[in-house]
Amino acid sequence: MSVSKYVDKVLEKIVEETPGQTEFYQAVEEVLHSLSPLLEAEPKYDDFNILERIVIPERTIIFRVVWLDDAGKIQTNMGYRVEFNSAIGPYKGGLRFHPSVNLGIIKFLGFEQIFKNSLTGLNIGGGKGGSNFDPKGKSENEIMKFCQAFMSELYRHIGETKDIPAGDIGVGARELGYMFGQYKRLTGTFEGILTGKGLNWGGSLVRKEATGFGSVYFAEEMFNKRGDSLKGKLASVSGSGNVATYTIQKLYDMEAIPVTCSDSRGMIYHKSGINLDTLKIIKEVDRKCLSEYAKLHKDATYIPVHQYPEGRNAVWSVPVQAAFPSATQNELNLEDVKTLHKNGCQLICEGANMPSTLAAVDYIVNSDILYGPAKAANAGGVATSQLEMSQNASMQKWSFADVDNKLRTIMKSIFNISYETSKEFNDEGNLVLGANIAGFRKVADSMIDQGAV
Ligand code: NDP
Repeated sequence: MSVSKYVDKVLEKIVEETPGQTEFYQAVEEVLHSLSPLLEAEPKYDDFNILERIVIPERTIIFRVVWLDDAGKIQTNMGYRVEFNSAIGPYKGGLRFHPSVNLGIIKFLGFEQIFKNSLTGLNIGGGKGGSNFDPKGKSENEIMKFCQAFMSELYRHIGETKDIPAGDIGVGARELGYMFGQYKRLTGTFEGILTGKGLNWGGSLVRKEATGFGSVYFAEEMFNKRGDSLKGKLASVSGSGNVATYTIQKLYDMEAIPVTCSDSRGMIYHKSGINLDTLKIIKEVDRKCLSEYAKLHKDATYIPVHQYPEGRNAVWSVPVQAAFPSATQNELNLEDVKTLHKNGCQLICEGANMPSTLAAVDYIVNSDILYGPAKAANAGGVATSQLEMSQNASMQKWSFADVDNKLRTIMKSIFNISYETSKEFNDEGNLVLGANIAGFRKVADSMIDQGAV
């Protein structure tokens, strides 16, 4: 059977067997199609049925989360943990709390995580979890109650050498703290079962900053390869959470000027540069809406979502040389990318997971825009999670500079392996192909080594 027929057959099978998981199909399609040159060269992956196996999670755990709200009413949510692939190490991947969460979203994230984790060069498998719980508008007490209820089921599935969750959208230090506390209460053990922990109780310096910092390091590698750098460039960033905030911080370190940020309700355009202190106070401390930013900076513009052009994300209409989608999936579509290109954008670096639609990716790959795909560009978070696990296991605490240097070295190495792999398959600079093949090959070869499991 030809490679394209083999890939199409696998895609058809997942649509038939797992209906309604749109985002999951999108992630699988992007990966499988870009593997074609490898599959042509190496028939063993077909012989060992690797594609059919790799698109099915090893284990999917779905559970009920029951908690008491402040009014004393019993509330329910869905909980998920998808343990996708453990060929190269224990399952590792974040937890997302957002009303949009469903099994298809968790599976797309878990599938991406397999290859991302492989690219870091570290021994970590792929997993992801979360809940359709909406933290917005909940009291501190309700957040704690929910986290405790969520961990009351999750605790029996995770472990230091088994499955080690971390944060993602809606899950930061506060939520991880409540979940860690509940794990300890249930098991009577103090173990490194989560990463992104607080600095006083086993966390690593730079973990909070790692995804954003890593994304900017990756962008700098891309520019350097072209004999250029981020210095002096205008940059647009979407989102205003963990990834976006530390992308903005590192862009300033690199002497670039980040001029936008956004949340689910609107965006800020600040021509002279986003004020990092204001942003952190509004989003990290006060947990408020970005409209507050424009009240404090009269030269900044706030555009609410309902005023965005039809079907577009207004963040990408701002003329910049570099764009960093760092909020959520499918936030940058074909029209957005055409606008960025027309306005002189030279680089797109994905801090968020799958932020670009398939049509947008196709356009970028066939243009002169430098493109850092998510599974390579945002791998700094999970890589630093693994550094946290190493410190926990050896009972050490490394300095900020130490961890930051290691992170930068890992991002450089992810760029190099993706770039070199693109060259190996005669498509120099196509990092989608390079990252997918490099990430896949290590996992697939390990699956072959380990037999029919
Ligand atoms: P946060 O919850 O800290 O921030 C998410 C940001 O995106 C917020 O500004 C939020 O706005 C905005 N957002 C979320 N959903 C939507 C939506 N549907 N439409 C518009 N805006 C939205 O999450 P993170 O920063 O941790 O994660 C951001 C992205 O990065 C995700 O794709 C995540 O999977 C990815 N990622 C995160 C890693 C990490 O280490 N945290 C590691 C690798 C990838 P609002 O405040 O209004 O909700």
